[in-house]
This record gives sequence, structure tokens and C-alpha cells, in this order.
Amino acid sequence: MALITKAIKGTQDILPAQVHHNQFIEKTMLTIAGKFGFKEIRTPVFEHTELFTRSVGSTTDVVQKEMYTFNDKGGRSITLRPEGTAGAVRAFLEHGLFNEAYPQKVCYLTSCYRYEKPQAGRLREFQQFGAECFGTSAPAADGEMIALADEIFAFLGVKNLKLELNSIGCPQCRAHYHAALKTYFDAKKAELCVTCLDRLDRNPMRILDCKSPVCGAIAKDAPAMLDYICADCAEHFKAVKQYLDAMHIPYAINPRIVRGLDYYTRTVFEFVSDEIGAQGTVCGGGRYDGLVEEVGGPSVPSLGFALGLERLVLLMKAQGIELPAPAACELYIASVGEKGSLQAAALTHALRVSGVSAQFDVVGRSVKAQMKYADKIAAVYSMVLGDDDLEKGEVNLKKMDTGEIQPIKLKNFVDDFINIMVRQAADSLIDSLDL
Ligand code: ATP
Ligand code: MG
Repeated sequence: MALITKAIKGTQDILPAQVHHNQFIEKTMLTIAGKFGFKEIRTPVFEHTELFTRSVGSTTDVVQKEMYTFNDKGGRSITLRPEGTAGAVRAFLEHGLFNEAYPQKVCYLTSCYRYEKPQAGRLREFQQFGAECFGTSAPAADGEMIALADEIFAFLGVKNLKLELNSIGCPQCRAHYHAALKTYFDAKKAELCVTCLDRLDRNPMRILDCKSPVCGAIAKDAPAMLDYICADCAEHFKAVKQYLDAMHIPYAINPRIVRGLDYYTRTVFEFVSDEIGAQGTVCGGGRYDGLVEEVGGPSVPSLGFALGLERLVLLMKAQGIELPAPAACELYIASVGEKGSLQAAALTHALRVSGVSAQFDVVGRSVKAQMKYADKIAAVYSMVLGDDDLEKGEVNLKKMDTGEIQPIKLKNFVDDFINIMVRQAADSLIDSLDL
């Protein structure tokens, strides 16, 4: 196939048959987040490269291998956002939101870009729903943040997701942990990949997130951060668990979670599935108490998560979760001749203006072909406007599934059709109640 008729590797089209699923999911996320007090924020798709190297961390996979970075025509180094937190933090600072009442809760639906090896659940352009809460170090906020993700999954009917929880401590206790890791990995230096050799000096914790199987196997027996966290971090972690218990949100401690981005402190968590293959982490997040300061602002302890839409859609498909179908065509108005077509256009428009989804022929097909099309688009009702009907001022309205016919006058047509439609909906509801 010619190059220009094929989407770029790692990107995907979302076709109309899927879009309504995504719209439903996206609306659900924003609505639930709204109930939790999160307001949507929209930030640019590209930012100064420096923002991501600073916040995501220069020794992470994302910064070292995955960023779409280029110089623009003005010679600035620009990067397509690989994640949403950095942009939200930048906007928070730029617009002085830190002067407003805490906590500041924002959420977003954005596309992200990472130069990764494309596979199921791993794309180069992907969608994230993210939520960030600025201005609190209290464990109640960790509980609330996790509860938001949990509620989104519950509302969508997603089952069997495991919430895994860990604490990766603060910069103070992490210094001791780094020393322990360095001793451990120093002894295995000969087997580590080149990137991890570099990480050994600069940020040994990153070795735990290395995707190379050899490094992964070595990391399995490495010391665990939980054994090194200080009393304050341990106290915080204990309280986070208490909030989850209070909200009846089950979790498992996984001391291996470090997350792929450097800015995390204390609580980190993932929602993991074993039903969508190797890329099972549907949602990941945690606390980032030092990030706002790192980006150049005051000290504003904060936290957040990001949820991958493609992985969520894969999981919902795997679980056979059906989402409401898009609004059907309530009425298809077929017509014969020019006069009929003009009248069909007028009636269809009047119906649409009144909130009814209606269609008429815009191709110029025969009545037979028009009716075939009405069938294809699953129109609930249809009718044909011919010269006789126009003269009589009355047409036959056909219920497509039963073939039942009833006359309807063209005068007051919109009102009468809406009445029939509403009546029909009420009847089928009453039937389904089985009274
Ligand atoms: P992984 O370990 O799977 O690479 P990550 O730690 O890089 O994940 P985050 O940066 O925390 O992931 O992103 C949050 C979520 O975004 C992930 O849990 C996942 O659902 C989704 N995600 C991340 N990278 C991709 C990608 N390349 N394609 C599709 N979804 C992704
Ligand atoms: Mg990754």
C-alpha cells in the first residue's frame, strides 16, 4: 500500500463504530471526576523539552529513549508531551493557581506521544485520562485519588483489576535505599545493560524499572524500598491504607512498583489486569511532593494518576462490556421526484431542529434503494413522500421492525411524530417492566 494511505506505525484511527464507546468512557471519566471536585484543564500538545527532562527525569526510559523531540523553525527544542502531569504543573505555576484555595484538583483527557515499540496496549500516540491534586500532603488525598480511579472502573463495569500499592519514600529515606541498591547492583555490574550501568551511578532505583529481561531478573532480588522508608513515610503509608480500608477499596502491597517517572514520592499505585496481555497496567499514579518545586514553583505537595484509554478499551472488550449504542435514526424520509425531495428536506430539518434524529436521501437514489439504506442504518420508522401523498397531505408511517403501518398527516407532522415516538418508547418500557 502506498505510504500516504497507511497510518504511521504506533498510531491508530478510531472509527465511528468505536468512537461512541470512547465518548461514553470519556464522558463517564469527566463526570465522575467532577463529582470528586476535579475540573478539566487543557494544556498544549507540545512544551519546552526542558520541562519534561526536569520533571519526568533524565534517567527515565521516557526521557532517554521515548520522547518526540525536535527543533522548531525558531531553533527551540520542543517535545510532544509524553505524559500530562508536567504540563498541568507548568500551567498551575504559570497562572498562579497556587495562590488559590487548596486543594486544586484538575483532570484532563489528552493524547500522549512516546517512541516505543508498538504492540497491543503500547502505542506511539495514545490517550490518557489524568487527574492531579495540588496542595496537600495528607494521606486522605491519596485515598481520594485512588478512589477516583476505582470508581471510574466500577462505574464502567470493569472487573478483576488489581490495585497494587507501594511507598517509595521521600528524598531523605531514599538516600539510604539508593546506597543499599548501589551495593546490590555493584556486585552484578557485569550483567547489567549499558543504560542501567549509567543509572547505577545516577539513579539506581531506575534499574528496577528496566524492561530488559536480564536486568529484570537481577532486580527481582534487590532490596525493597519499603524496608528503608523513614518513620514519617511509614506513618503516611499506614494512613493511606486506612483510608482505603475505610472506603472498602481492596489493594495488595507490591514492593516492586517504582513507576516509570522520576517525580514520584511516597505513595505509588497501579491498577493491573491479567486479561490484556503483557501491557497490563491500565492506570498508574502516586504522590509527587517535590515536583512543583522542581519545576520552579513553591513547595506544593501533590499527587495524581494517569489512565490509559486504549488499555481500558482492550480490557472492556475482553470482558464483553457493552456500551449504549449511538442514537439511532428515528425516521427515514424517502421521497420520489424533486418536489418530494424538497418536502423531505424540509420535514427532516424541522424534525432535527426539534431534537429528533432523522435522515432523508441526499444521494438521489431510487425509492427501493432509499428503503434499503433506511434498513441498513436501522431507522426505527420510515415513510415515502410521493406526489400523491403530498397532494393528500397524509403519508404512511412504517415501523421498520414490525412492518406496522399508520397514517400520519403532514400538517402538524413534527408534533404528531414526536408523540408517536414518545408513546412507542413508553409502551416498550412498560412491556419490559413485565407488569
Ligand atoms: P509501562 O510500564 O506500561 O510502560 P508507564 O509506567 O510508562 O507504563 P505511565 O507513564 O505511568 O506508564 O502512564 C500511565 C498509563 O498510560 C499506563 O498505565 C498505560 O495505561 C498508559 N500508557 C503508557 N504508555 C503507553 C503507551 N505507549 N501506549 C498506550 N498506553 C500507554
Ligand atoms: Mg512506559
